[in-house]
Amino acid sequence: MEIYSTLTRSKENFVTINDNRVNLFVCGPTVYDDAHIGHGRTYISFDTIKRYLEFKGYAVFYIQNVTDIDDKIINRSKESGIPADVLARKFEKRYREDMHKLNVDGVNLFARATDHVPEILDQIQRLIDKGYAYETEDGVYFEIDKFPEFGKLSNRNVEELESHRDLADTTKKNPQDFALWKKREGVDEPTWPSPWGDGRPGWHIEDTAITEFYFGPQYDAHGGGLDLIFPHHEAEITQMEAVSGKAPMVKFWLHTGFLNVNGEKMSKSLHNFITIRELLEDWDAETFRFFVLSTHYRSPIDFSKDSLHQSEKSLDRIRKYYELLDVEVDDGEYECDALAPHKKEFFDSMDDDFNTPKAIASIFGLINDTKNDLSDYSDEDKKAIKAFLDDAAHIFGVSFEIEEVSAGSDDLLNLISEVRSELRANKQYDLSDKIRDNLQALGYEIND
Ligand code: AMP
Repeated sequence: MEIYSTLTRSKENFVTINDNRVNLFVCGPTVYDDAHIGHGRTYISFDTIKRYLEFKGYAVFYIQNVTDIDDKIINRSKESGIPADVLARKFEKRYREDMHKLNVDGVNLFARATDHVPEILDQIQRLIDKGYAYETEDGVYFEIDKFPEFGKLSNRNVEELESHRDLADTTKKNPQDFALWKKREGVDEPTWPSPWGDGRPGWHIEDTAITEFYFGPQYDAHGGGLDLIFPHHEAEITQMEAVSGKAPMVKFWLHTGFLNVNGEKMSKSLHNFITIRELLEDWDAETFRFFVLSTHYRSPIDFSKDSLHQSEKSLDRIRKYYELLDVEVDDGEYECDALAPHKKEFFDSMDDDFNTPKAIASIFGLINDTKNDLSDYSDEDKKAIKAFLDDAAHIFGVSFEIEEVSAGSDDLLNLISEVRSELRANKQYDLSDKIRDNLQALGYEIND
């Protein structure tokens, strides 16, 4: 299997540090607001990558950090009057609910920055002891000039660190030096005691303190969106390789492309976002997952309702075909000649840097080749096809089975309909119209 690493800008044979173990870290959310579907894109991609690695037999340990202390959280807390820790817990909970709805359940450990302050302090102290970091009156900073390899992930130079989000008007030796510890600025912000006075961690140090604690100084794969390559991931490499003296900190750096709207990155600051919650009011989570996987994880996706409709139709086509496979999959190992080339293409594509759009195309190749004479296929052939589609569905985190409407739902609909008739009879039109509108939104047509 080959995976593209941003570090070498090439696809490389996937070799792990410890046999079949994969230690994977992906930058998690800053929890000050609801996640939008751009976040959804990134986390669906990594969830699918984890699913595929596990399918291949790797034991994957997947950690995501939760940035629960940050300028954005403090600012939102001041605006809303909600204490920063309460605000962060609320949005962490909502984030995890959203992920669950998207069937993104693969994270083994959510590691909060605020639960790892001792590890953060320890790493900062070692950086100071080794001469890489220094204290000033407002914080502790990493001295970029001490690490000549800075820029090797992003191929960018130190000057470009100017746009760094930690860069305030400070007392640093060089404007490019980045904060490891920020001393208390005001009375109404959360702080932790440290050898350098009360304060809070810089943004980059939480990730390396967490990964060093759980994985050690070197591990297999690190992921995040493209925007994190610089300066965040560059700074992570700088801190960790400086403190451990070991390189590379991570061999496989995986970065997802943006989910865009009209060619622009979906983001909170551009006010062009749709939250996952809003999307799921109108769309099925599996349709969104399939939409995301229809583009390669490193490429940009342009979000539009038309594309979602397209994904809905594609998924529907697979499901209708799947329903024609009127057999039960059992433990038998069956081969089917017509399936073989498409199955090979599916797994070759997934082995080629998780090329999900090509893997999806192989499923349509299979459908086109077999659908017209499927009734002539033996049960063994159909079982082989169905088992393959079950594997594909599992890897994609969707189901190809058409959902049965349970008998209970008919009873429920009749009951709602009766209640609505009574409301209309009593001239309570507001309420009866509301029920009609909500049922329509759920896809039910009501004719009075
Ligand atoms: P944040 O909470 O903004 O730091 O983002 C959390 C993760 O979502 C990071 O890996 C970001 O790169 C990623 N992300 C944010 N916006 C988008 C987007 N529009 N498309 C894809 N990934 C995104």
